[in-house]
Amino acid sequence: VTARILDGRAIAREIADEVPGRVAALRAAGAPQPTIAVARIGDDPASVRYTGQIERSFTRVGLGFRLVALPLSIDDDGLARRLTDLGADPKVTGVLLQLPLPAHLSRDRAVEAIPPAKDVDGLSPVNAGRLFLGRGRSFAPATAAGGVELLRRAGIEVAGKHAVVVGRSEIVGRPLALLLLRLHATVTICHTRTPHLARYTRQADVLAVAAGRPSLIRGDQVAPGVAVLDFGVNVVDGKLVGDVDFASVAPIAGAMTPVPGGTGPMTNAALLLNTLQAAEWQAEG
Ligand code: NAP
Repeated sequence: VTARILDGRAIAREIADEVPGRVAALRAAGAPQPTIAVARIGDDPASVRYTGQIERSFTRVGLGFRLVALPLSIDDDGLARRLTDLGADPKVTGVLLQLPLPAHLSRDRAVEAIPPAKDVDGLSPVNAGRLFLGRGRSFAPATAAGGVELLRRAGIEVAGKHAVVVGRSEIVGRPLALLLLRLHATVTICHTRTPHLARYTRQADVLAVAAGRPSLIRGDQVAPGVAVLDFGVNVVDGKLVGDVDFASVAPIAGAMTPVPGGTGPMTNAALLLNTLQAAEWQAEG
């Protein structure tokens, strides 16, 4: 038996196809075109590539995209001012700050300048706090949100299941664990100080791995039938691979995401969904 492959590209396309209808409904109600503003500092090639992907995925489905390219010489005050201005612009629905920031800038200071209602990548403490409390209108970081959306659309039930999350970063592991908890999973979070990682991963009904370590999880570390979400993005011998060893895990798992083509495309799709949601909430006032 081989795992069912969870095709993130196909599910992301399905989401993209739903966008124009929701945009039309917003426009008919008199709302402006939902638009994301992406603030990028400098021209790091990975950032430029990611910005390009966002631009293509947004413009293709009729959403607005605005690039705010800022010089490396910008300081904390200047960056906060630019983000505050974008937040106050009625034509801007969502503001995304590309991370990581250059070392001389304060991430905390910057994300606090983005109004929570426009913080479509869920970076601000207000959105993180609402996610933690499981209350109120909030946005979760797009990669984590994309992972649970993929499970939902693939029909994988998490309520009552044991979800094991490997990784506790602010942008992937931690928010993912909170989203799974909100969906009534029993959640275990593992990290570098977890001894005997396999003892936990073998108990998982749903295993989400966001560690950034190629082949961290192999076939002898998972239970038959597990649903695996692999968030890892690693380059090994010039090839893109995840954190889960596909060859040894696929014969045992019930379902799993490939790398590439699994959780990656879902990040962009979740950003589309968060931006639409922001536009709908803003239209409601
Ligand atoms: P990160 O900030 O480096 O966090 C990695 C987490 O994994 C940390 O919590 C770390 O534990 C844990 N970890 C590392 N090695 C481990 C090990 N051997 N055993 C158990 N836990 C371990 O990375 P991130 O930003 O969360 O990203 C994780 C991966 O997802 C990376 O490959 C990244 O490229 C990828 N990613 C993908 C997307 C996407 O769109 N699919 C988006 C963002 C990131 P400690 O906290 O103890 O250090």
